[in-house]
Amino acid sequence: MGRNILVLGGGFGGLSTVRELQKYAAPDDKITLIDRSDTQVQGLSLLWLLRGWRTLDDVQFVPTKDALGRAEQVVADVEHLDLANKHVRTSEGVFDYDALVLGLGAELNISGVPGLEEALDAGVAAHYYTAEAAVDAHAKLKSVASGKVVFLVTRIPYKCPAAPYEGAMLASDLLTETGVRDNVSVEVYTPEPQPMPVAGPVVGQGVVQMLESQKIGFNPGHIVERVDAEAREVVFEGGECVSFDLLVFIPPHQAPAPVKKAELSPAGWVPVDAHTLKTMVEGVWALGDVASITLTNGKPLPKAAVFAKGQAEAIAQGVARQFGYEAPEPHFNGEGHCYLELGGHLAAKGAGNFYHPDGAKIEMTEPSEELHRAKEREEQEWMAQWTTGTNAG
Ligand SMILES: Cc1cc2nc3c(=O)[nH]c(=O)nc-3n(C[C@H](O)[C@H](O)[C@H](O)COP(=O)(O)OP(=O)(O)OC[C@H]3O[C@@H](n4cnc5c(N)ncnc54)[C@H](O)[C@@H]3O)c2cc1C
Repeated sequence: MGRNILVLGGGFGGLSTVRELQKYAAPDDKITLIDRSDTQVQGLSLLWLLRGWRTLDDVQFVPTKDALGRAEQVVADVEHLDLANKHVRTSEGVFDYDALVLGLGAELNISGVPGLEEALDAGVAAHYYTAEAAVDAHAKLKSVASGKVVFLVTRIPYKCPAAPYEGAMLASDLLTETGVRDNVSVEVYTPEPQPMPVAGPVVGQGVVQMLESQKIGFNPGHIVERVDAEAREVVFEGGECVSFDLLVFIPPHQAPAPVKKAELSPAGWVPVDAHTLKTMVEGVWALGDVASITLTNGKPLPKAAVFAKGQAEAIAQGVARQFGYEAPEPHFNGEGHCYLELGGHLAAKGAGNFYHPDGAKIEMTEPSEELHRAKEREEQEWMAQWTTGTNAG
């Protein structure tokens, strides 16, 4: 008799899992994909929305039935995980499972920093962690004529360790295009000791140099306490106040509500085995942003699409083996890369093995137009795969 495989979340991790499962699951197994929306946007496209190189229509896509293969898609809000009884409650009913894959990503929690929502509502702040927000941030940056733009990393962890630095450099590029860059200072504030700490001091220093070459100030070790929308000030722990004309922030992140309620860890993120992505609960796997993996250097594996995609095969193999089917031993190897946008259609690339026994071994390649084009190809290939491709295994 066929088994029920439930995949929660239809982002990078969920879609990749659905594709891989079709290679390993038996023909009578039922694969169900549940997401609150059938429309997807890639994280890397958000940066180009911020810069103004993409429109909303360019970046949103709906995976087709052909591309989803034999997976059934359900549009519903996941409300409650009953892991003891193997049920998931959603806005469209209760689903039983034999295997459950958690790919619900990370939730934004703007109210996690006092004053941030008020600053957003007052029109003095913006972010670019959703498509609509990135369009708004672009419009706000375009209307800046002078003063100070502050990029603020509010809390750790957050998606895409390069995004704050790329955002600041793309904003600088945009302000150059609008002809006001000489009248505007751009500063980055972060609680981190260096950019992209997981990649080590050499990469961090390289990013600081990129920022300096664009006259962007880098201010590490700053933990925001609150934002004062009226005074247009960020107040940091210890009392330092920094004024701004426009605040562009990386929102605080948290585990999605139903996952948090399942209490799989104190922080809410789901601890998994680094190679198999199995959770401590039998029959449950997690991948992508919702999963937490601690590296040998004590730092968490970054929340990035490249890992969500790469982890899916190990999960499909693990599910198949649990059902007694033949499948290779699951082994996600921790390889990953990310592009770093500098503006001017230039990108650098950091790549390496995040599971290296001595800590992540990441090397950064010199910026080039070719790397920017390679990033564009990744964007287009992913969309094409889900809008024109067939993933039925
Ligand atoms: C500005 C920016 C730039 C980025 N750039 C890069 C980059 O260059 N390279 C890279 O590798 N990564 C990048 N990322 C990170 C990347 O987008 C994420 O790491 C990736 O999307 C994670 O995939 P996921 O499947 O875990 O989660 P997601 O893709 O976020 O998917 C989660 C899905 O779960 C659904 N969901 C959540 N809660 C519920 C619920 N309760 N009920 C129903 N559905 C729910 C959501 O609707 C969503 O579709 C970037 C991110 C940002 C914000």
